[in-house]
Amino acid sequence: MSYWLLIFSFCFQQTTAYDSNYLMGKFLPEKDPRFVSIDRKYRVNRTMYLRKEAYEAFEKMWVAAKKDDVTIVISSATRNFEYQKKIWEEKWNGKRRLEDGTLATEISDPSERAKKILQYSAMPGSSRHHWGTDFDINALNNAYFSKGKGKKLYDWLQKNAEKFGFRQPYSAFETGRATGYNEEKWHWSYFPIANELTNLSANLLQDYKFQGFDGAATATQIGIVKNYILGVDASCK
Ligand SMILES: [Zn+2]
Repeated sequence: MSYWLLIFSFCFQQTTAYDSNYLMGKFLPEKDPRFVSIDRKYRVNRTMYLRKEAYEAFEKMWVAAKKDDVTIVISSATRNFEYQKKIWEEKWNGKRRLEDGTLATEISDPSERAKKILQYSAMPGSSRHHWGTDFDINALNNAYFSKGKGKKLYDWLQKNAEKFGFRQPYSAFETGRATGYNEEKWHWSYFPIANELTNLSANLLQDYKFQGFDGAATATQIGIVKNYILGVDASCK
C-alpha cells in the first residue's frame, strides 16, 4: 500500500468509525472486526459480542471480582437494530408481556404505549446495547441486587467497577437523573468509549431518523434522543 493510500484509509476509518448507522446498531457485530465473541465462562449459554476494548477491561474486572468471591455473568451484550426491533415489536404488538405482567396493547394511545415499553426496553436504534460497550449481568431485576449474593455483587461493582472503566448509566432517579429508563442495577457500560458515543448521539441522531419498526412515529412525540439516549447518569456523558 502506498504512503498516501495509507494516510487516506486511516483518515477514512477515523471519519467513518462512528456514523449514525453504527450508533443505531445497523451492522452485524459478528462481521465487524472491532467486536469479539465473549468466552463461555463469562456469559449465559448464548453467543454474544462486545467491543474488544470493553471486553478486555471486562476480563480484568471479572478476574478481580472472582478473587473477592464475586461472579459476574453477562446475560446480554451487543444487540443490533434487528435484534432490538424483534424485542420492541413483540412488546408493541402484545406478543410478549411487559415487566409488570401487562400487555402494551392494553394502552391504545401510541405515545403512552411506547413510554410504557420504554420503562425498560429501548426503541430500535436507540439502545446502548447497539454499541458493544454495554451489557447486562446476573439478573434483570433490582430486587436481586438488594440482598445476599446480588447485594455483594452490586456493592463490589459500586466500589470497583470505575477502576476498570465501567459505570451504571441507568442510575436511580433520586441521584439526579431526570429522564429515561427506570433504574437498572444490572446494566453496565464501558465509559471510555460509551461516553463519546453518547455525546456523538446528541450530534448525529435526530428523532425523525427512528424508522422501520411498529410504533416508530412516536419517537418524535417522545423526544427519544433527548429524553432516553441522553437520559443517563451524569457520569455517563
Ligand atoms: Zn441493558
